[in-house]
Amino acid sequence: MVKLKTPEQIEKMRAAGKVVRKVHNRVAELCKPGITTRELDDEAQRVIDESGATGLFKWYPTYKPGTGFPATLCISVNEEVVHGIASDRQIKDGDVVGIDCGVKVDGWCGDAANTILVGDVKDDVRRMCEATQRCLEIAIENVRPGRKWSQVARLMQKYAETRGYGVVREFVGHGIGSSMHEEPKVPNYVSRETLRDDIDLREGVVLAIEPMLTLGSRRVKTLSDQWTVVTEDGKASAHYEHTVAVTRDGADVLTDGR
Ligand code: MG
Ligand code: MG
Repeated sequence: MVKLKTPEQIEKMRAAGKVVRKVHNRVAELCKPGITTRELDDEAQRVIDESGATGLFKWYPTYKPGTGFPATLCISVNEEVVHGIASDRQIKDGDVVGIDCGVKVDGWCGDAANTILVGDVKDDVRRMCEATQRCLEIAIENVRPGRKWSQVARLMQKYAETRGYGVVREFVGHGIGSSMHEEPKVPNYVSRETLRDDIDLREGVVLAIEPMLTLGSRRVKTLSDQWTVVTEDGKASAHYEHTVAVTRDGADVLTDGR
């Protein structure tokens, strides 16, 4: 059920990952007070088009125009956790802006997320963002053949929870390859269910690892637009993601632009 990737396929995913990184770099440059989230989304689509790639989010999951997710990026501001939709909303000083981008190049996918800290972000929110980024780094440092994913997830969860942050349960990472969402599910926590469905990390496994932390309660809800996920308590959230291949030596990050 987990489809292993060949070195050639992994190189194709790295090519998609380079386009994803180009989008993130461009959006991070532009993400300043006053710009609207729709302007960021439009620029992302331009970068994807000029790179000869296809966005994976617009009209997801059927890809029939006018159905499903209506934007190129997921842009999730402050209390929005994931799947925020671009709009006329203007970015303000102190916002934390989650940007998620996925593209396909030559039949293979890359998916990565980043949280941009705009100007003067409150210290507690800034630290929560840094902890989320650190959780992703911990995962990358600890992925290697012979381990179970739950061993990695436990380290991420412990890092977050000992600092008082919530680890979102309802949304998790995923296998990725010729489709954006493949088996297995890649949770950022450990439970009886995740242990039952544990993943053997072996060479050729490729995962989108994506910790989502909250400053307060880990409880989330989906807004009436059917997409935007927010924290129930309205406190800030952060999200970082890389597409990562398991190699003989450990993790090979495919979406860092290298
Ligand atoms: Mg993503
Ligand atoms: Mg993903």
